Amino acid sequence: MYLALERWLKRASAPPRAPAAVPLRGRVRQGLLDLAKRGDRGIFVHLPLWLLIAVWTDTWTRQPLFCTLNALLFLANALARQRLRGRFEALVDRDYGRAFALYMTLLLANCVHWGVLTGASMHWAGLSQAEAPLIFVSVGVGCAGVMALSISPFVRLWYPTCVLAPMALAMLTDRTQLHSLLALISMILVAYLYKSSQVVHDDYWAAADARLELEERARQLELLSVTDALTQVHNRLYFEHRLVAEWSRAARESQPLSVLIVDLDHFKKINDTHGHPFGDRCLVAAAQALRAALHRSGDVLARYGGEEFAVLLPGAHSPAAQLVAERILQAVGSVEVRHDGHETRLACSIGVSTLVPAALSSPSSAVSQADKALYAAKQQGRNRVVIASPA
Ligand code: GH3
Ligand code: MG
Ligand code: MG
Repeated sequence: MYLALERWLKRASAPPRAPAAVPLRGRVRQGLLDLAKRGDRGIFVHLPLWLLIAVWTDTWTRQPLFCTLNALLFLANALARQRLRGRFEALVDRDYGRAFALYMTLLLANCVHWGVLTGASMHWAGLSQAEAPLIFVSVGVGCAGVMALSISPFVRLWYPTCVLAPMALAMLTDRTQLHSLLALISMILVAYLYKSSQVVHDDYWAAADARLELEERARQLELLSVTDALTQVHNRLYFEHRLVAEWSRAARESQPLSVLIVDLDHFKKINDTHGHPFGDRCLVAAAQALRAALHRSGDVLARYGGEEFAVLLPGAHSPAAQLVAERILQAVGSVEVRHDGHETRLACSIGVSTLVPAALSSPSSAVSQADKALYAAKQQGRNRVVIASPA
């Protein structure tokens, strides 16, 4: 029985299934953040309502300790929720389950608190004058809360239940005709609120899924537009963008910027001997070797042309760039690609240029210097690194 209830609860608290393109984690995370944002509007609603009812109905003068205690409880809840508000997103990212449990506990504690006060007003003479306004607020807060927060199936069920159930229970045990009628009305209200909030819930998730799907597609398209289809490293478009950006940054900070142009040696011969598909496999293997030879997260690797790769090393002085170039030379030189029982070893030539961007120079000057150095490397017999002499 307990297990069945738990399974049902689990199903009830899960948002509807997402379209395939929407990442599940992002979707569930966004749902909880949106719910919390909507709930923030109700943080300070119970305290002033309680103060108003207690003072207006004279309950405060007759039961000052009881009223103060309850005001302090409402205040403590509001302050705790306000405090959680500032750090909620970080908590959701760190521990989703804990963030969900904490938020729901604080939210529903307020509902139960108000519901119990309302129920108590029907049995305890000290609170009887506040009964009608307490019932009025319970119904109002229950309706408003469930409609605003119905993003979560869990809240859809438990928010109105926590507000209205203690009241309904108290009315049922009281057994006057009016209270019995009100108890029945509250039960019907809970069922009606649960049913009607389905529309709000479905509308929210349909809109959220459409938005998340669009964002995901845009992200994938953006990635595709800057990725080389064959080697899966960045393409020339991406390199050009990053070159301009890094150039400006280096100019601002008076930092060096190194550019390496890597060209595979005698690649036409490889294609002619073993065929184009084999040449493609060599290009993929070369790109992997290049990627493995770059250790810094800020380094940029791109396929610049047919069998040419470009590398951007922000902040690298000439000796550091030379070291990276030698590492690439070794990495590409140790790539062996098998074909029909033969093994083909790759080799490359690398031109390196290092510049501290000056006011009148342009990013393309770094590439053309590296290109000249590459030409010299080819002239000098290939399979080597040549450093461009400073302009
Ligand atoms: P060098 O050592 O002087 O650089 O000689 P190379 O043969 O590498 O240079 P060349 O510019 O004469 O030839 C480059 C070759 O790269 C020609 C072309 O068929 C090949 N190539 C360019 N893009 C691709 C590609 O996407 N796939 C394959 N398989 N080959 C490509
Ligand atoms: Mg070439
Ligand atoms: Mg070549």
